[in-house]
Amino acid sequence: ADKIVTFFTHRYGKIQGVAKGARRLKSKFGASLEPITHINLIYFGKENTNLYKINSCDILEPFSKCKDDLDKLKRVLFLCDLINSTLHEQDVNLKVFELLLKTLHIFTEIEGLERLDTAMDIFSLRFLSAVGFAPKLTHCVYCNKNPSYDYRGSNGIGFHVVKGGIVCGDCLPASEDSIKTNSGIINFIKKSISINPSNLDRLILSREMERDLHKIIRLYIYAHIDREIKSYDFLN
Ligand SMILES: [Zn+2]
Repeated sequence: ADKIVTFFTHRYGKIQGVAKGARRLKSKFGASLEPITHINLIYFGKENTNLYKINSCDILEPFSKCKDDLDKLKRVLFLCDLINSTLHEQDVNLKVFELLLKTLHIFTEIEGLERLDTAMDIFSLRFLSAVGFAPKLTHCVYCNKNPSYDYRGSNGIGFHVVKGGIVCGDCLPASEDSIKTNSGIINFIKKSISINPSNLDRLILSREMERDLHKIIRLYIYAHIDREIKSYDFLN
């Protein structure tokens, strides 16, 4: 009747704990162990152990709106999977913790598939940047030139997902692996990474631009996150 649960904590990163009797119908844990629940967790065990004993969980924020809406649920589960498959146990990352919390609040508020996808893409961009995979957005990944004044040139601008950065208009025609994009998308990516977290919910894209951004981010995650992310197939 016990349950092994993975938690993402702000002080100790990812930890695993066993919740005694959690599978029983009248468990003291109630709904507190459901995924995507912000809780106050009390656990004990020796330091550097792999499995702690969960003493109690009090729900701080159930994020019900993220769980009751299937379109929201599958997206936030993907974000949790991304964290779970990228961070190691006890990798403390306060930035990612706060980003996840903020993103869950945004998901609670917003409606519409495009906005959900935008919120998911912004999370992914900031998350990847926080764990060392920030895209290179100021200089071309081939010639190292800064193309910021050349965005509207005849060849436009591209993004190379494997090299992880922009491709200038001069290099773009010869680069078969680049995705052709535009200055609007690149500037949005820049802003998504640099903006103050409290303003994240103000970033909105048109439907067409969201589709282009989503394609880039999806391929970028595939190229840089080695592990298989289970919820991805479900999402597409
Ligand atoms: Zn170039």
